[in-house]
Amino acid sequence: EKCIRRVQKTRELNSFITETLDIARSQASESQARQLSGSSLGILDGVPVAVKDNFSTLGVQTSCASAILKGYVPPYNATMVQRLLDQGAVMMGKTNLDEFAMGSGSLDSVYGPVRNPWKYTFQNYEANKQDDLNKQSLRFSNKGNSANHKNNIQSESIKNSDSTNGQNGSSGIPEDMDVSDTRSEECDWYVSGGSSGGSAVAVATGTAFAALGSDTGGSVRIPASYCGVVGFKPTYSLLSRYGLIPLVNSLDVPGILTKTVDDTVIMLNVLAGHDVHDSTTMTDPYKPVLAVDFPEKISLKGLHIGIPKEYHAPGLASDVLSAWDKAADLFEAHGATVSEVSLPHTRFSIVCYSILCACEVSSNMARYDGIEFGHRAQNADASTEALYAASRHEGFNDVVRGRILAGNYFLLNKNYDTYFIQAQKVRKLISEDFACVFSVGVDVLLTPTTLTGAPKYSWYKREDNRTRTEQQDVFTQPINMAGLPAVSVPASLSDEGVPIGLQFIGPMFSEQKLLTVARWFE
Ligand code: GLN
Repeated sequence: EKCIRRVQKTRELNSFITETLDIARSQASESQARQLSGSSLGILDGVPVAVKDNFSTLGVQTSCASAILKGYVPPYNATMVQRLLDQGAVMMGKTNLDEFAMGSGSLDSVYGPVRNPWKYTFQNYEANKQDDLNKQSLRFSNKGNSANHKNNIQSESIKNSDSTNGQNGSSGIPEDMDVSDTRSEECDWYVSGGSSGGSAVAVATGTAFAALGSDTGGSVRIPASYCGVVGFKPTYSLLSRYGLIPLVNSLDVPGILTKTVDDTVIMLNVLAGHDVHDSTTMTDPYKPVLAVDFPEKISLKGLHIGIPKEYHAPGLASDVLSAWDKAADLFEAHGATVSEVSLPHTRFSIVCYSILCACEVSSNMARYDGIEFGHRAQNADASTEALYAASRHEGFNDVVRGRILAGNYFLLNKNYDTYFIQAQKVRKLISEDFACVFSVGVDVLLTPTTLTGAPKYSWYKREDNRTRTEQQDVFTQPINMAGLPAVSVPASLSDEGVPIGLQFIGPMFSEQKLLTVARWFE
C-alpha cells in the first residue's frame, strides 16, 4: 500500500505508462495468504517491482512508448517477467521509455517525457522535505551524512526487508506529499536519462524495490547514473531476451535497476540462466553470485583496476572527473593496484554503434506494418502498400523513422561493405581492446558512466545540443559491443547537486568479482 501511494503521489514524474495497481494488490494479498498459511515463499515474495514497457506482459499493454503499439496486449510474459512472478514479485506497472528504447533521455515517448525526481520541485511539496527524497548511497557526497544514507537505503532494500513485504522503512517520498497535479510546462527539471528512465525513477522514488530495464548502448546505466540508483548490464547471454521487444538483437540485454548492489545480486540470481526460448542464452548452468555480507572485510589486495585513458573524453565535466579520480585514489589507498590502460578504438564506438543499430532496427521494425500489431491507419485503402506507409508514418516518431531510413541506406547493395561490414570489423576491434586489457591481468575497469550529471530539460531539448547528447553514450556503448558486464554505482553529486555514477566493467561472466568490487565501493 505504501508503494501504491508513492505511485499515486509521483505521477507528475511520468515514470509509468501503465499502472497495474489492481494486479499488484491481488498479487500482494496472494503473497500475504502464502505467508499466513506458512507455505513456502519465493525469494521476491511480496516485493514490488516495475517493468520497462518493452518487456511483454501477459494481458497488460506493452507499447514500447510508441503509437504503433498502443493497445497491443501480449498473449504471454517475457521470460524475465515470468521469472520475477514465479518468485512472488508484485508488479506495480510498466515503465516509460524512449520510443522502442531509442534515446538516452526518456524524452522521446509518445506518453511524454520522464522527469528526474532529484531537485524536482513538486507542486505542494515543502522544500525542506526535498532532501529525504535524495537520500541515496553516495560515496563522495558532500551533502548529508553518509551513515544516514546507509540507514535509509537498508530500510528500503529487498535484502533488509525482513518480512519481504516491502512495507517497512522510511519513504523516499514523504507520506503527506501530494504531487498528483500537473505542473505548468515552463518549469524546468532534470532529465531522468534513458531509455530506461521510467524504471530508474520508479526505483529512485521507492515506488518499486527493483525494476527491469533494457540496455543496448547504456539505457540502464545512464538513467541509473542520473537518478542516483544502481544500474546493472549483465554479460550478453546471461539473461533471456525472450519477450523483450528488440532494438538491436546483437547488443540488447535485459538490465536491473535497484537501490543497492545487494539487491542487484538478488535480482540477478532470480533472472539469470538458460532459457529454452532464447537460443542465445548461455547453456552452462548458472552459478549464482554470492552476496557480500561484510563489505568491510573485502580485501582489495591483488585487485588490479584499469583506468582507460581514452575515457578522458571531450566534454567530460570537471565534477565527474573529480569523482572518478577520488574513486581511483580510494581503491589505491585500500591496497588495489590502479593503472592507466588503453582502449584505442573507443573513439569509433559512437559512429560504429549508429550504423549497426540502424541496420538491425531497419530489419526489426519491418514487422510493424499495421496488419498484425497495434496501430492501423484509417482511410488508407488504396493499396496494401499505402496502408503500410500510412500506418508506419503515423505510428513511429521521427527518431525511429530516421533510423529505419538510415539502416536501409547502409544495407543497400552498394553501401553494404562500406558501412555494415566495416562497422562489424570496427566492433571486433573494440571488443579486442577489452580482451587485450583483461588478458594482461586487469580485473575491473573503472570509468565514469556519463560525461556529465543529469542535464536540465531545457538544455537537452535545444537543437544545437542534440549531437552532444548522443555523445553521452561514449562510455557505455563500447561495453555492449563487447558483450561485457558493467554496473553503474552512485558515487557523488554534481556541482548542481544531482547524482553522478561511476561504472565498473569486467570480463565476460565476471559478475561475481564485478559486483563484489561494486559492493565494496558503494
Ligand atoms: N542511446 C542509445 C540509442 O539510442 C542506446 C539506447 C539503449 O541502450 N537502448 O540507441
